[in-house]
Amino acid sequence: MTKIINGKEFAQKVRALVAKEIEISGLKPGLTVVLVGNDPASEVYVRNKDAAAKEVGINAQTIKLPAEISQAELLTKIDALNKDKKVHGILVQLPLPKHIDEKAVINAISPDKDVDGFHVINAGRAVTGQDALVPCTPLGCIMLLKDALGDLTGLNAVVIGRSNIVGKPMANLLLNENCTVTIAHSKTKDLPKVCAQADILVAAVGKPKMVKANWVKEGAVVIDVGINRGPDGKLCGDVDFEDVSPKTKAITPVPGGVGPMTIACLLKNTLEAAKRLEK
Ligand code: NDP
Repeated sequence: MTKIINGKEFAQKVRALVAKEIEISGLKPGLTVVLVGNDPASEVYVRNKDAAAKEVGINAQTIKLPAEISQAELLTKIDALNKDKKVHGILVQLPLPKHIDEKAVINAISPDKDVDGFHVINAGRAVTGQDALVPCTPLGCIMLLKDALGDLTGLNAVVIGRSNIVGKPMANLLLNENCTVTIAHSKTKDLPKVCAQADILVAAVGKPKMVKANWVKEGAVVIDVGINRGPDGKLCGDVDFEDVSPKTKAITPVPGGVGPMTIACLLKNTLEAAKRLEK
C-alpha cells in the first residue's frame, strides 16, 4: 500500500513547533526578506514567507528595492542588516536583475544570518560536518524521508539534479544519514537504470513528469522536488505520479509534498539563527 506523504500536514506540525519554541523561549527572531524589482512570482513568494513568519511569532519585514538599484547600493543595505541586532535572518529573494551578481550578494550576507543556507561558508560547513544553516528545500525533504522511513542508514539514494540549492545539499544530507549516494544529472548515462537502483529517489530537475514507473524500484520512496506547469497548464512534479506511485512505498505529491516544507524550514532556520546569535 503506497503512502502519499502529506507535506502540507507535516509542514503545519513544523510551523506549530517553531511557534511553540518561540513562545516558550521568549526569543524575538527577526527575519528580513529583500525583494529587488517587481517580478510577480517573486512578489507572491515573498508575501507568503512574510505571512508565514508573522504567524509563528517571527518579527518579519520585507524591504522592497527598485529593479534599477546598483549592486553597491544593495550590498550597503545588506551590510546594515548584518549589523542590525534585531535581524537574525536575511533572505534575498532570487532571481536578481541581470546587472547584479547573485553570488556576490549571497556571500555578502553574514553566514550566521543566511537562513536560505546558500552562503559558501554554510555550504562548506555543511559538507565538513560543522554547524550550518542548511538550504530549506533539501532540509524539508530529509525531514519527510526520516518521518517515512526512520533510520536511513545503508539505503541507496539517488538524487537527480546537482544544483547548489537543491541537488548538492540534498546529496550531502543523505550522506550524513549514512546513505550510499549517487548524484545524477543531464550528462548521466542510462538514467533510468541508475534510478532503478534507488531505495530513495529524489527528483530535482525541472522537467514535467520525467520519471516513469520503469525507472523506479518496487518499494522505493520517491521525493519529488520539481514544480512545473504540465501541458494541461496544471502544476506537476518531475515524477509521473500516476504512473510511478503504485510501485512505491511512499511518494510526495505535487502540489502538497515538498513545497510546503520549504517555507516551514525557513521558519525553522530563522529560529535556529536567532538561538545561535542570542546564545
Ligand atoms: P536547476 O535548473 O538549477 O538544476 C536542475 C538539475 O537537473 C541540473 O543539475 C541538471 O543537470 C539536471 N537535469 C536537467 N535536465 C536533466 C535531464 N534530462 N536528466 C537528468 N538531469 C537533468 O534547478 P533547481 O535545482 O533549482 O530546481 C529543480 C526543480 O525543483 C525545479 O522544478 C524547481 O522549480 C524545483 N524547486 C522546488 C522547490 C520547492 O520548494 N519545492 C525549491 C527549489 C526548486 P546539469 O547540472 O547537468 O545541467
